[in-house]
Amino acid sequence: MHASIVLFGPPGAGKGTQAGRISEITGKPQVSTGDMLRQAVSEGTDLGIKAQSYMENGLLVPDDLIIGLIMDRMSKNDAKDGVLFDGFPRTINQAEALSSIVEISSVICIEVPDREIVDRIVGRRMDPETGEIYHISFKPAPKSIQSRLIQRKDDNEETVLQRLSAYHEQTSPLASWYDEKELLTRINGNSSIEEVGNDIAEYLLNL
Ligand code: AMP
Repeated sequence: MHASIVLFGPPGAGKGTQAGRISEITGKPQVSTGDMLRQAVSEGTDLGIKAQSYMENGLLVPDDLIIGLIMDRMSKNDAKDGVLFDGFPRTINQAEALSSIVEISSVICIEVPDREIVDRIVGRRMDPETGEIYHISFKPAPKSIQSRLIQRKDDNEETVLQRLSAYHEQTSPLASWYDEKELLTRINGNSSIEEVGNDIAEYLLNL
């Protein structure tokens, strides 16, 4: 199957956590605009310089920058059989631009109520060596690596509330947009990492 898959949901829904397993099942590489932007910021590229303040304030980076980034990524050889989009598209404009360059076979929406999200995000930690995502209570890292874990700059309570409001205003309308195209599948994200992963795997294996 040459089409791409979109992983969709609010910040903290578990998109990044589930993406590895989905990539294994489908063989499609993960394309995370959030990861690519963080890398651009840390390398100090033009894009990184333009994107940084939006990210730190929990606002969406302008569509033209994101669409340019995706065009570039999709021209790479490993994208030719489709990819797994994580955190993209986030606006109707982005989705329209995407639909003109790739075929989408399914959009998996991981649903988590707002009240769960702040705790999930504020307790989130990342291992810079492996990229693995942990949580201080829900998925503690092994003791031996705890001292090297880092917390994302935008994973604080104030910024999370702004990210959630950007999600509700600009991104969540995409659910009905994709539903009308009969591409949307809703997954209950309000359970354990393993259960959510199993539900997604079951859906993918029955495609
Ligand atoms: P994420 O890692 O997906 O939570 O993204 C972190 C931040 O990067 C977001 O809060 C936005 O500022 C920015 N970002 C990531 N993906 C997009 C996108 N598709 N459109 C606009 N901004 C994005």
